[in-house]
Amino acid sequence: MSNPLPFERPLASDRAASHWRLAMTDLVTDPAELLALLRLDASAKPASLAAQQDFPLRVPRPFVARMAPGDWSDPLLRQVWPAAEEETNHAGWVDDPLQEQAATLAPGILQKYPGRALLTAAPHCAIHCRYCFRRHFDYDGNSPGREAWEQSLNTLHQDPSIREAILSGGDPLANSDRQLAWLVRRLEAIPHLDTLRIHSRLPVVIPNRVTTALLELLQASRLRVVMVLHVNHAQELDADCNEAMARLGDAGLVLLNQSVLLADVNDSLEALEALSERLFTAGVLPYYLHLPDRVAGTAHFDVGEARGCELIAALRARLPGYLVPRLVREIPGQSSKTIIA
Ligand code: SF4
Repeated sequence: MSNPLPFERPLASDRAASHWRLAMTDLVTDPAELLALLRLDASAKPASLAAQQDFPLRVPRPFVARMAPGDWSDPLLRQVWPAAEEETNHAGWVDDPLQEQAATLAPGILQKYPGRALLTAAPHCAIHCRYCFRRHFDYDGNSPGREAWEQSLNTLHQDPSIREAILSGGDPLANSDRQLAWLVRRLEAIPHLDTLRIHSRLPVVIPNRVTTALLELLQASRLRVVMVLHVNHAQELDADCNEAMARLGDAGLVLLNQSVLLADVNDSLEALEALSERLFTAGVLPYYLHLPDRVAGTAHFDVGEARGCELIAALRARLPGYLVPRLVREIPGQSSKTIIA
């Protein structure tokens, strides 16, 4: 799929820039290869063909390297494996549980909450997380070309109540640094915007994505930059991730994390405690723990609201408040996320 963002003038590049682009073209997409790398036997848990067709396997090799070989219960593997459970339909679990299509302000731009606008800045991600609430999202219909982007950005110019632009996707950092520069500079030219928020999993799954050019771009911006990472399990963070987070922190970005509460991934006190502590070591504060959105094919990840509340209460008894994320659910039509605990 082509990328919708146009180019800006070249930025300084470094060796890491070519490394991450290479990693993006060398993803593991064949279930048989993933099992071979992990020394697992396909007969124990064959990949679902239907799930694979619906939302194909896509995993960066640095992320695979953090999985434990020979372990079907590995929490990273569970997040990406196209499992047979995805074929079961559950009442109330639908393609667009957040009714995002209704929130479209202009092509590529959604407005769900007052004061903020969300830009679907990239139509793809480095990794396919099975539980993703946008796994059925109409990226083709929300991937404007250059002229359409200019027009969509005009709608932000015309609404002074919007103070924060949120780059989401897909994964906005799947764009090249030059494409991001084009977008960031246009957002900087909108006088009433003061904050740029970037939601990304790329610094976690391919830490080389944190290039010098990206840091220069964000550090030089007149906008306050917040990066919201997406880490669900402590095992996702290795030394390369720590270094990437340190570089982002040194550039002055506010670093937050949001996780999804997922059955057999992080639905234990020990897993959530280790995650908060590992994030803090990396300079990132836990922010939200989402109850999974009711996306078709993902009901097997749900642990229920009551279990979520129990876990947060137990976490509060063990950790300082700043390491306890807020348990939230997104309810379509509400003016903000709903805090559950
Ligand atoms: S990186 Fe984010 S948007 Fe992409 S598949 Fe994972 S959860 Fe969805």
